[in-house]
Amino acid sequence: DAPKAKHNYQSDVARLRKIVINSLYSHKDIFIRELISNANDAIEKLRLTALKDKSIYDGANPLNITIKMVKPEGENPGRIIITDTGIGMTPEELTTNLGTLAKSGTSDFLARAENQDAAGQGNLIGAFGLGFYSSFLVADRVFVASMPPKTAANPEPVQHVFSSHAEESAFEVYKDPRGNTLDRGTEITLVLKDDALEYIDENKLTDLVHKHSGMSSAFPIYLQVERKKEVPVEEEAKPEASSDAEKPFESKAEGEADDEAIVEEVKTDEEKEKDAKPKTKEITVEEWKHLNAQPPIWMRDPKEVSTEDYETFYKAFFKQAEKPLAWHHFSGDSGDGVSFRGIAFLPAKLDDGYWQQPLQSVSKDIKLMVKRVFITSDLGENGLPKWASWVKVVVDAEDLPLNVSRETLQSTRFLKQLKGIIIKHLISMFQRLASDDKEKFEEVEKAFGGVLKFAAVEDVKNRDKLVPLTRFTTTQRNNTSLDQYLENRKKGQKQIFYLSELAKPHSELAKSIFVEKLHARGYEVLLLNEPIDEILVGNVRKYKLVPFQDVAKAGLQFGDEDTDPEEEKAEQKRMEEKYKPLMEYLRKEAKDAVTNVIISNRLVTSPCAIVADAHGYTANVERMMSASNG
Ligand code: ADP
Ligand code: MG
Repeated sequence: DAPKAKHNYQSDVARLRKIVINSLYSHKDIFIRELISNANDAIEKLRLTALKDKSIYDGANPLNITIKMVKPEGENPGRIIITDTGIGMTPEELTTNLGTLAKSGTSDFLARAENQDAAGQGNLIGAFGLGFYSSFLVADRVFVASMPPKTAANPEPVQHVFSSHAEESAFEVYKDPRGNTLDRGTEITLVLKDDALEYIDENKLTDLVHKHSGMSSAFPIYLQVERKKEVPVEEEAKPEASSDAEKPFESKAEGEADDEAIVEEVKTDEEKEKDAKPKTKEITVEEWKHLNAQPPIWMRDPKEVSTEDYETFYKAFFKQAEKPLAWHHFSGDSGDGVSFRGIAFLPAKLDDGYWQQPLQSVSKDIKLMVKRVFITSDLGENGLPKWASWVKVVVDAEDLPLNVSRETLQSTRFLKQLKGIIIKHLISMFQRLASDDKEKFEEVEKAFGGVLKFAAVEDVKNRDKLVPLTRFTTTQRNNTSLDQYLENRKKGQKQIFYLSELAKPHSELAKSIFVEKLHARGYEVLLLNEPIDEILVGNVRKYKLVPFQDVAKAGLQFGDEDTDPEEEKAEQKRMEEKYKPLMEYLRKEAKDAVTNVIISNRLVTSPCAIVADAHGYTANVERMMSASNG
């Protein structure tokens, strides 16, 4: 008997397992997604490692994931066995990877989860993805047998097992008593709880894999199923008689293949007579059913992909708890021969802390695939700029060499073009929503309105397309585009009026004395209260050649058709004459506070206003300046 090394779980793991085991009755299904995702990661890791070191994987053994179901029988409990031919784990790796929590954000998660009831925990777990520990949602006992690949450093790997009870706070790692049954990879045996036997069901597992993983695993996933078959009696029934052309195991990777021999069915005489002509008999054979034969979602015709498909794919592929707000399924050609397809998703909202991130921060969620296979999500210097860094994109290039390293990839032309391609599609998604789906665009505007303004400031090249996507609250309505503003212009109006005061509610701004006269005369005024608004008008300056005009600054012009400018000038002159003594008095008295005192025609009910010089800072910017100067 091999010695078994007993380990206690790291305390965080113990806490996590407890939450999993106690609270997730309605979220049990996720175990399959998590285990397949790990299998997929392990195969991807093998493939990527092999790019640098061919000896790890020479392409001979198939890269796949298999699922077997074993019905309970007598003493033997029901089981589900998930096997991958990926990178595998050494005994040390079994201990650290499965016995400790290295994931960032886990302690945050734990703290939050422990303060929630079961339902709340369930939602949280859906959000974080519990990974391997989700096994304990359905299993009392879990065995993980793993075999790392042969390498120069580890020329004679030995298969080891990690085993753990749901009820115990310890796990064991030991040499597999069965010997090296795996060529390479990991086999996870879930000994099912009584209330999880429902998973031993072809349809149930097929549906779950379709729902959660089928669309996002590049490697084939096979489920072992039983099929009844008619075979000619003369012919000896052989396992090869199985019609499944995609049988995954050509090599002896499948250790138990011999046990899956054919079971002959006993037939009644009647039945025998019925099949009399060409003498056949019915037998039961084990077949491998390919669960993800369908191309991945981004390769499919958008017309054939349902909303639910997109949403499920998004959550599983980008590990998101919330549905995406919108998406854009695109295809194209880079211009020099690289054709690509992809989907860009708008997340439900910006990450907390987005605005605090440095300006240089770039995207982390652009998943680049080549011919369905994941290559990288680190585009390095070719990543999207901060204004677009939150978008989640999968893009699959058809004609890039599969075996380029990430480093070489960075310098390919396609990667240099990719940023521009994605931004182009992102902008067209916004444009489409703005014109075709007003309701959705309002939601988008709520979550990303500030970002669109930021984009219009930052991305000078695309500014002409981005500015029309910005929306404002005005003295007359909400969600107004600058095009709508211009359409609503009064005859002769030559400026886009705005009032800006940081952090002041729109309703307060609307009452400002600066707005009075304009509003009374029927002019629309943009009400700005966020720093990005002021930065936007300051940078953009004009829209369709019409300049922005701060109504709190000098330089305001009315262009009412019903006031004759000559007459207005004369009136102004008369007023200046009439109030000359008062003006002189005020100028003298207030000379420390203001540069000038003038008679203005911009007020209706308020007696006076203090305004900034046309070329000076507004009160807001002045406040910001003095704040930043300490
Ligand atoms: P995550 O996948 O987010 O890292 P998990 O709890 O799902 O977290 O898995 C923990 C770690 O265990 C993985 O990072 C990986 O190192 C290892 N692991 C899990 N499943 C496998 C597998 N099938 N093959 C190889 N390593 C695995
Ligand atoms: Mg995982």
